[in-house]
Amino acid sequence: MKLVFATANKGKLREAREILGPAVELVSPADLGVFDDVPETGTTLEQNSLQKALAYKELCGCDCFADDTGLEVDALGGAPGVHAARFAVDIARRDGLPLPADHDFSANVDALLRELSKHPGEPRTARFRSVVTLLLDGETRTFKGILEGSIAMQRSGSGGFGYDPVFIANEYPGRSVAELPDGTKNTISHRGKALRAMARWLQERE
Ligand code: IMP
Repeated sequence: MKLVFATANKGKLREAREILGPAVELVSPADLGVFDDVPETGTTLEQNSLQKALAYKELCGCDCFADDTGLEVDALGGAPGVHAARFAVDIARRDGLPLPADHDFSANVDALLRELSKHPGEPRTARFRSVVTLLLDGETRTFKGILEGSIAMQRSGSGGFGYDPVFIANEYPGRSVAELPDGTKNTISHRGKALRAMARWLQERE
């Protein structure tokens, strides 16, 4: 079957293609000539995921699914949480510094390591949470996944995207998610769990 994944994030698209396999032909908004940036103004992953799915359904003119992912760091009281994509902007604004761009992966990782360095000796436990919202034939379904782990002291590895170079999954201690062999992240990840749940639901519905 053909499905639109409502994202402009190439890393997410690559992972989703691998997770869903050949049974689903994944199309991106860019493939349909849609390059708009959809705002995320909700206060929860559920709200943002639904907001993205509805916005891209309108823009693309067809059903689709969206993913919103947050990173919760315990020593930071759950931050960046739903603001993971603009953490560096939030911190710069708080500190009165020049603002980096939203979705600047490198600036976000720098901000995270800097904020955590203010909590020496505290556990660096953290988790990714993904909420996937599928709009299909008038139905709205959500699927969720969590990956538990911790934040490394410094970056390592070149795989994955976003916070992967500083995230150590509990399943693979001693190396970051960005250092895992190709395909391994998807077998344990928040997005892998949510998208496999969606694939099961789609299969049962057939
Ligand atoms: P969003 O779901 O696109 O809003 O993502 C929020 C932020 O988390 C962005 O900065 C992403 O780069 C980052 N992010 C989302 N998924 C992952 C992941 O699987 N690994 C690392 N970072 C991620």
